[in-house]
Amino acid sequence: MIYIDNNATTAVAPEVVDAMRPYLESEYYNPSSLYEPAEKVQKALRAARSSVAAHLGCRADEILFTSCATESNNAAIFGAAASNPKRRQIITTRVEHPAVLEVCRELGRRGYTIAEIPVDTAGNLDIAGLARALTPGGTLLVSVMHANNETGVVFPVERLVRLVKQVDPAILFHTDATQSVTKLPIDLAGEFREVDLLSFSGHKIHAPKGVGVLFIRRGAPVRPFLFGGHQESGRRGGTENVPYIIGIARAMELAAETHEADIARITRLRDKLESGIVSNIPYIEVNGKGAPRMPNTLNIACHSIEGEGILYSLNEYKICASSGSACTSGSLDPSHVLTAMRVPFTAIHGSVRFSLSRYTTEEEIDRILEVFPGIVANLRAMSPYWDKEKNEPAGFRNWTEKK
Ligand code: PLP
Repeated sequence: MIYIDNNATTAVAPEVVDAMRPYLESEYYNPSSLYEPAEKVQKALRAARSSVAAHLGCRADEILFTSCATESNNAAIFGAAASNPKRRQIITTRVEHPAVLEVCRELGRRGYTIAEIPVDTAGNLDIAGLARALTPGGTLLVSVMHANNETGVVFPVERLVRLVKQVDPAILFHTDATQSVTKLPIDLAGEFREVDLLSFSGHKIHAPKGVGVLFIRRGAPVRPFLFGGHQESGRRGGTENVPYIIGIARAMELAAETHEADIARITRLRDKLESGIVSNIPYIEVNGKGAPRMPNTLNIACHSIEGEGILYSLNEYKICASSGSACTSGSLDPSHVLTAMRVPFTAIHGSVRFSLSRYTTEEEIDRILEVFPGIVANLRAMSPYWDKEKNEPAGFRNWTEKK
């Protein structure tokens, strides 16, 4: 089996499992309890929090452990809104993950004004548009993702946060860094020093599903979202998920140990996959090609065929990838990200995402390169959108003009 869908989720690293195991098997005590074995667990929890903070360049008390990035985003956005009800505008982007976009839209239904900033055809954010949308005294929060989960396009968070804070330092800046943590440099004491809130998740970084992180900068006005016990300094009630917190901390340590070598290898393999596909198959476009991109992500648009068909065919070769469209999640609507990038109609449905991890091998890339041209050719031979005589998309000129 070839797993090349790491932006969806990642394999739990064996070292992470080893680190977690004692806290599942024998060190199961509630860290808040007052006997000695529980104190040991409390100490391990403190160490994990400090380690996560050290990797991000922040203080341990600025790290809040959650259950996933979706919870972190909800806590950040609803928490910001609850702390400052006078400010009624939120700015985000059209290409956010639903874990941000739908939270903002829910606030929109509750009377907030939501500005969703567009992107260009390469996926770059309309920064001038964002600047125009900022309203001193009125904007509550700007939430802009660091790296896009579908295309891998990276937004210039340092530049954006500077711009926002120059207009009004009281506007909170949140970034969903679920796809970038451990892959791109993030320093909350350096380039990201003005970022107020940052979210991510364990299962994208070789820790298990069920644990996430929300960084809340000291002093940032964010009301608790989950009321209950005193855990997480009273900001999120609920007994801490100690084994998984140990797991996410270990995953970050591991990533840091081999970061440079891993990223160099992943970039080389991704580039090999990209050039191998693009140079051997006609009418393929790389979504996000003209923008800075994550080293591990390749999203391609194959004209005149369905992403679903490509995924089924890949599956027959035991290759697990993902469609760029929402088809896989039971909806036939095209991806909102690719729609925002104005990917042409005949290509948007034929988009496929390959996302690599440090476990991706050269042999796996070679195997994909071996089978992929045949898959595309077979599907095109059956497609009503493919002109078999001219060997090009049917009505080719029309969609070029539309773009
Ligand atoms: N944000 C981004 C950018 C993502 O890619 C994802 C998951 O794909 C999420 C948020 C949601 O993460 P989780 O499944 O941990 O809630």
